[in-house]
Amino acid sequence: MSEKFLLLSCCAPCSCAVISKLAEAKEKFAVVFYNPNIRPYEEYEKRREENQRLCEKYGVPFISLEYDNERWCELAKGLENLPERDKRCSICFEMRLKRVMEYAKNNGYKAVASVLGVSRYKDINQVNLAAEQASLQTGVPYLQIEGRKGGMQELRNKLIKELNLYSQDYCGCKPRHVKE
Ligand code: SF4
Repeated sequence: MSEKFLLLSCCAPCSCAVISKLAEAKEKFAVVFYNPNIRPYEEYEKRREENQRLCEKYGVPFISLEYDNERWCELAKGLENLPERDKRCSICFEMRLKRVMEYAKNNGYKAVASVLGVSRYKDINQVNLAAEQASLQTGVPYLQIEGRKGGMQELRNKLIKELNLYSQDYCGCKPRHVKE
């Protein structure tokens, strides 16, 4: 990739391997943290700070956008009890990618990538479909970046250990063990 792009990161564990590879390849990119889906706020702050620490380690610019949890809740209204990978997640992915694409457009970035599908709990096709929708609405291309295969999972586990990264046990909107 020769043009500069934005990488939407949800947390340090999901982005560490991708950031390390891109930095090693001297790609022109910045990491953007736009995750108004994360609750409670203390957890959001914890993940944001950890992601910033990771970017500082690799000398990658880190951009933090607004914490618009009220808007996220409005969009997810009525879907709160659906399981992970269902419709709420599509809306959540699309909201975040669309905002980041708008930011990219207004700030001279040519494309957007993300690590939203890196976790084994996620359906990568669902993320890619949401990205396609966000691209259609904003006109900003989405770059699919490999975060699981080709040794990326192993690198991720190694970096989490080496850098002592904080690893949460739920995606963002509610703990997985909570049944409602
Ligand atoms: S489980 Fe994660 S991706 Fe799905 S709606 Fe909640 S925060 Fe968003």
